[in-house]
Amino acid sequence: MSRFLTKRHSSLVPYVPGEQPKNTDYIKLNTNESPFAPDESVLTAISAQIELLRLYPDPESSVLTDKIASLCGVKPSQVIVTNGSDEALYFAFTAFADSLAFPDITYGFYPVFAQICRIPYEEIPLCDDFSVDAARYVGINKTVVIANPNAPTGLCLELCDIERILQSNPDNVVIIDEAYVDFGAQSAVKLVDKYNNLLVVQTFSKSRSMAGARLGFAIGDEALIADLHTIKDSTNPYNINRLSAAAGYAALCSDGYYKRNAEKIKENRENTKKALRDLGFFVTDSKANFLFAKSDRIEGGKLYEELKSRGVLVRHFNKDRIRDFVRITVGTDEQMRIFIDKIKEILEGRQ
Ligand SMILES: *Cc1c(COP(=O)(O)O)cnc(C)c1O
Repeated sequence: MSRFLTKRHSSLVPYVPGEQPKNTDYIKLNTNESPFAPDESVLTAISAQIELLRLYPDPESSVLTDKIASLCGVKPSQVIVTNGSDEALYFAFTAFADSLAFPDITYGFYPVFAQICRIPYEEIPLCDDFSVDAARYVGINKTVVIANPNAPTGLCLELCDIERILQSNPDNVVIIDEAYVDFGAQSAVKLVDKYNNLLVVQTFSKSRSMAGARLGFAIGDEALIADLHTIKDSTNPYNINRLSAAAGYAALCSDGYYKRNAEKIKENRENTKKALRDLGFFVTDSKANFLFAKSDRIEGGKLYEELKSRGVLVRHFNKDRIRDFVRITVGTDEQMRIFIDKIKEILEGRQ
């Protein structure tokens, strides 16, 4: 820390992303990216932008915004495109939150954004089975943010529970972070016309194979979206670069490709879940593109290390209640086969 860092930032604890090793030999199952390349049309779309890179991009990202709106069945004025969904969350916290409530075990960025925005927050414990107890958010009178499915547990809330939270907090925004929704949860997008306090956040990083492009979006009532534009235009009006906007648009035009990939991931998830359970693991019933698992036979940190030394990266969180677990991104058939082989090796004490 330099002596110039302001006092208000001196105690900031930044988010620690999963490792992004320079060495590409690892089987990378640690940050929930897609194992599949983007659709081929993305290359053509990006190439067409090269000459135009000398110009600033469209600050509204209109072409991409309109496409998202039409696919989601909402008006373009109900959509804002952001630099990753992390930016949508940051804008929303900045715009709407005087105080926040979110689960004690969830996406690690929520407390970090709360701290940098200096918003007090309450961490609501998950139930013993790691499910989100909607009753604990009823009438809480704070801005609520819930990842659905939640990370790193993979568990979902039903839409009726989300509606209870929305109805009982009419004076607060309820943010539903749907980073993993394409792998089996029900989307709350269909509720945005019914609840003017609902903001749904989605991303291109997981199911759409584009974590490197940094694209996300938020959908909600027009007035909420207008407020997010105010924050965006006060911080980073050109938040989406031309290449990413073009890539995102092309990706949405080949929606079938991503849907098929998501189906494949779901199939691999179920097979890997079964294989882990057959090996005695406890595995949550994840509806995301990752599994959350623990074994009585090996501690979570140790399993992470043993897998890493065998060339497989998973994620371990050194945190109360989940220290025994690892989170495993679901990859291709081949990757999952190697992963399970390595697990067997480790449990049998082989090298
Ligand atoms: C991955 C993830 C995001 C953010 O992804 P971006 O790459 O910033 O779009 C947001 N929320 C959750 C719960 C995530 O796991």
